[in-house]
Amino acid sequence: MSGNGARQLPEIEAKVLAGERLSGEDGLALLQVTNLPWLGFLADTVRRRKRPEREVTYVVGRIINYTNVCWVKCTFCAFYRLPGHQDGYVLSREEIFQKIQDAVDHGGTEVLFQGGLNPALKIDYFEEIFRAITGRFPVHIHGLSPAELIYLAKVSRLSLRETLLRLKSAGLGTIPGGGAEILVDDVRQAISPLKDTVEEWLDCMRTAHQVGIPSSATMMFGSVETAAQRVEHLLQLRSLQEETGGFTAFVAWNFQPDGTELKGKRASAFDYLRTVAVARLMLDNFDNIQASWLTQGPKVAQIALHYGVNDLGSTIFEERVVSAGGTKFMASREEIERVIADAGYAPRVRNTRYEILR
Ligand code: SF4
Repeated sequence: MSGNGARQLPEIEAKVLAGERLSGEDGLALLQVTNLPWLGFLADTVRRRKRPEREVTYVVGRIINYTNVCWVKCTFCAFYRLPGHQDGYVLSREEIFQKIQDAVDHGGTEVLFQGGLNPALKIDYFEEIFRAITGRFPVHIHGLSPAELIYLAKVSRLSLRETLLRLKSAGLGTIPGGGAEILVDDVRQAISPLKDTVEEWLDCMRTAHQVGIPSSATMMFGSVETAAQRVEHLLQLRSLQEETGGFTAFVAWNFQPDGTELKGKRASAFDYLRTVAVARLMLDNFDNIQASWLTQGPKVAQIALHYGVNDLGSTIFEERVVSAGGTKFMASREEIERVIADAGYAPRVRNTRYEILR
């Protein structure tokens, strides 16, 4: 890079090595770096400081996309079907139980329960199914991202806090950070104008953390946002984490254009690795940075282990939302462990709260 940003880089390196917090300007300069190995060195330095053990974790889990019915029409989404569409579905209890049984049979401890904003499903549906799941299976429910929760509160005529407390008592353990996309309202207006605002997303996470439901945080990049807006997103997450400490991990994934209204190009592996490394450097109060196996595949996810990543997320038996956009990677336990071991780390199975199981 050239100009002021290039002059800034030695200062940024000194700050990272001294363990000082980086500014938004620093983040922006780093997002323009083309010397990827140098960025990897910095991110790996922070990763080793936070996670000195030569281990990479993952969770054995299964995604359940319980419904594809959704009225929000995000332009980057190829998964949803509008209410009344002939291809719309809601999984039956039996189908859900069968999928969870399959996960449990494979050593699964986590169910990621995520779907569209379906006007037919109110709080009693979720309370019932969560109680049924936790009553039958020894699994942790990681479910319902902020867009689903905010809408569920609205259609159920409850406050967000009450909704979260009722779901928690029914068995909801943690919340996935999906739907964050880019936490800048101009970007949200451009790609998902009917979805929650930045303030609503942050407030949902804040409330969840306050009532004792931790969450992960995500970033979907590579659609229409600028580098400065990616940095703004990271600063929003860092600031809320400072306030609540409720984020367990951060995961970045790039926009999957196939079959979407938005269309566009898929971000390169270079852009992905650079973005992940910058996230590791900016999010100094996050313990875990996760690679997106689903969108990047095993090879790039493996390289990301040297760019600040210390976790490979969940095994993937089946997933529909992201894969509807053209990505088809599956991740078995054997494959995940091979990828981790080949990169020089010991694979460790964790639970959803990032406690090591074995
Ligand atoms: S991304 Fe989620 S909220 Fe947006 S259209 Fe797809 S299913 Fe609906």
